[in-house]
Amino acid sequence: MTQPKSTNITWHAGHVEREDRERLLRQRGVTLWLTGLSGSGKSTIAVATEAALVERGHFAYVLDGDNVRHGLNKNLGFSPEDRTENIRRVGEAAALFADSGMICITAFISPYRVDRDRARASAPGRFHEIYIKADVETCEKRDPKGLYKKARAGEIPEFTGISAPYEEPEKPEIVLETGEASVEESAGRLVAYLEEGGYLSS
Ligand code: ADP
Repeated sequence: MTQPKSTNITWHAGHVEREDRERLLRQRGVTLWLTGLSGSGKSTIAVATEAALVERGHFAYVLDGDNVRHGLNKNLGFSPEDRTENIRRVGEAAALFADSGMICITAFISPYRVDRDRARASAPGRFHEIYIKADVETCEKRDPKGLYKKARAGEIPEFTGISAPYEEPEKPEIVLETGEASVEESAGRLVAYLEEGGYLSS
């Protein structure tokens, strides 16, 4: 757990409220937090949902695990501590995006329940956990980046689902079974969920 290092700091409020930004954008800020094993379909569903939303005239943005590790989190690895810090930073970034009025879709394995719960606590009422569910066998068969092959060969230590744990969500807002639903169906369910939740109007 990261301890605060700064002391003499005060929150400086702006002149514009989140509601003002949401009126401007004609939508409500929210985070769809996709969690699941590597290869379960998080990135694929995230970008399909983003495209469907932009197509409908909404401001959506994907924060993707590998992409974030190119920049913001390039100094982090895959030890339990680094995974926790990875998710802490992304949880905070997603909360800022949601506060800006954006529809933020995150695609991170985020294997630890406590880390996801902390991300939820960073954006009260605006965090929706989406379990991208596929069993290890299915993910391993897909193996889009050849990572399972490397993990089985012992070339990747601490690989989630093989040599590192994945803690399944206990009460996710949505479960998408990607062994059954197509990418289009899953993205459609997420857009419908946002619509029903009133996020696609201000
Ligand atoms: P993750 O981001 O969870 O690691 P990816 O989205 O990178 O997973 O990879 C998932 C792979 O599975 C992609 O190659 C995708 O085309 C494939 N796939 C097959 N069926 C589905 C489905 N129903 N939903 C999502 N992805 C699927």
